Amino acid sequence: MKYISTRGKIAPIGFKDAVMMGLATDGGLILPESIPQLDRDTLAAWSKLPYPELAFNIISLFADDLPKQDLKELIDRSYASFDHADTTPLVKKDGVYILELFHGPTLAFKDVALQLLGNLFEYLLKERGEKMNILGATSGDTGSAAIAGVRGKENINIFILHPHLKTSPVQALQMTTVLDENVHNIAVKGTFDDCQEIVKSIFNDLPFKKEYALGAVNSINWARVLAQVVYYFYAWGRLPEQREVIFSVPTGNFGDIFAGYLAKRMGLPVAKLILATNENNILSRFVASGDYSLGTVVQTVSPSMDIQLASNLERYLYYLFDENPQRVQAAFLELQQTGKIVFSEQEVQRVQSEFLTCSVDESATLATIADFNAKTGYLLDPHTAVGVCGALKSVQEGAEVICLATAHPAKFGDAVEKAIGAPPPLPPQLAALQGLETRCQLMDADREQIKAFLRENAR
Ligand SMILES: *Cc1c(COP(=O)(O)O)cnc(C)c1O
Repeated sequence: MKYISTRGKIAPIGFKDAVMMGLATDGGLILPESIPQLDRDTLAAWSKLPYPELAFNIISLFADDLPKQDLKELIDRSYASFDHADTTPLVKKDGVYILELFHGPTLAFKDVALQLLGNLFEYLLKERGEKMNILGATSGDTGSAAIAGVRGKENINIFILHPHLKTSPVQALQMTTVLDENVHNIAVKGTFDDCQEIVKSIFNDLPFKKEYALGAVNSINWARVLAQVVYYFYAWGRLPEQREVIFSVPTGNFGDIFAGYLAKRMGLPVAKLILATNENNILSRFVASGDYSLGTVVQTVSPSMDIQLASNLERYLYYLFDENPQRVQAAFLELQQTGKIVFSEQEVQRVQSEFLTCSVDESATLATIADFNAKTGYLLDPHTAVGVCGALKSVQEGAEVICLATAHPAKFGDAVEKAIGAPPPLPPQLAALQGLETRCQLMDADREQIKAFLRENAR
């Protein structure tokens, strides 16, 4: 399997190089040259496999330059850190299927991809005799999952910037109680945007980036998308009958839902994907009417989806534009110059043949948490609630709908308390963090100060 870029300007590369490249060197995103097809018999044969075996079967279709035994070992190790025998269990509540993706070390779905990515990085760096310094900014979930993915690993250092006192207390503890030598938390006196700006400008300093072998873990890495394809197949296999389904996906950067789109393209019988957003609804507008014009980010009770520019949308646009990299380049130039992309009527129809959408505001999100809890006794986190709210219409129409549960409710206790009047019970992993020793550098939102810290601590 070879990989290409959505912008069409890199020579085809193998899986290992695709993982190490992250963002394509021509500024595009990496995609497989062709999408493997699974026929009905294969789907049926794989439908009852345990999660790690299914993951191995699917991922090996895309990663044929890794020895099979090594890939198997990496996958087994990645999912051994999950605390449920099914890895991503499927439960049914009030006619809705919920795919619980939050049984990893940091209780959010990002663990599914970042546990594997951490192990892949360690394996590939060792093979190449190289080192890497991961640098990233987080509003909470990505940072903790990335740290959990690489803590204690050889040849990798990780530096994560978070806005001081602006993540949830639980998220801050999940990051700062990790005392491994290779983990460096930096609390920035500023906002998440300040953190992101600093990280971006450090990555733009190419000599510095090269000298310190800076790497990224954001959701543009192909391995992250690939790891997420697996649970769509897994969830479908857990249904009592293997019928056509709808998936509802709470969406921010379009990474998770793009994995669902790939699963559909590979042959999984997916009728539609519901793209559910909070008030940051540029992607909902895109699906509903083809209006893709940038707004400003607003803060919501589902902060991991407070995004305007969804980085993974480019992957979908490549297919929407019939795999034409010139059209992708033109679209992003248009976005840069005018703040929007204009789509043809035919393109909008095509989008609508694949996606349904809804934008769910704060009161509807909180009402969904409260109603669902009253009816079923099951607590949704605010991100999952956005997806469940978006799914209810399809459920009423009799469709089989699987809602992706992207975080454990206790990670977003304030929003849950606002909805039901009491905080969610803390699971033991989170309760155990209270009072632990922490390590974190408090710094000004000053790029030079942070660069100096990197110079001192990078490998
Ligand atoms: C990151 C995140 C999302 C959004 O996922 P994307 O792949 O960015 O669309 C949704 N819910 C939670 C809890 C998240 O952490």
